[in-house]
Amino acid sequence: MTVPVRAVLFDMDGVLFDSMPNHAYAWSHAMTQFGLAMTAEEAYMNEGRTGSGTIDILAQRFWGRSATEEEKQRIYAAKSALFNTLPEAKPMPGARDLLGMVKRAGKQIVLVTGSAQVSLLEHLEHHFPGCFRRELMVTGFDVKHGKPHPEPYLMGLQKAGIQASEAVVVENAPLGVEAAHAAGIFTIAVNTGPLPNDILRQSGADVVLPDMKAAAMFLEERFQETE
Ligand code: CA
Repeated sequence: MTVPVRAVLFDMDGVLFDSMPNHAYAWSHAMTQFGLAMTAEEAYMNEGRTGSGTIDILAQRFWGRSATEEEKQRIYAAKSALFNTLPEAKPMPGARDLLGMVKRAGKQIVLVTGSAQVSLLEHLEHHFPGCFRRELMVTGFDVKHGKPHPEPYLMGLQKAGIQASEAVVVENAPLGVEAAHAAGIFTIAVNTGPLPNDILRQSGADVVLPDMKAAAMFLEERFQETE
């Protein structure tokens, strides 16, 4: 028995914005000055993890120890500085239409991102006017455990005041899919990056679709089926 969908929880990078090529570039190029290395592919595999968590993985591998808080901040600042020199990422094709459809259908729109970018709401408001509300946003500032831990998505459900069975997640990355699946939420993976579909399926995606347009069609049908 399928219960009606009351909210759609959206990841941001690689779903709402075509920002992953910039993130992968910044990660892979900013690490070398610290004696760390990360390939672009690895950046995609780690997408969704907090900056601190990602840096710790590299520190363990290359330094044989954890990074201190001070090191994490310095390294993340270098990555962010490089990221900020890159051309601003455009909204993902189809994202605006999809959000409009969800809004018209009367469903809540919740943001669940690991990003700790300041002025996130202003940025979203600029590109997707009237779609996002501060009370319905989970960001890198809110969570203790980043994806793949279910905490960010559980917090998203809590903010929306709904059960897992009443939500759908739109994600693009393996760790994000893992987090949403672990939170017990039906998960649409939109494969906007270079990884094979199988990785997203193995991470727990209920369906893997090629783009936001396909996701909009899928969601619209699901809304109708469960009304
Ligand atoms: Ca993402």
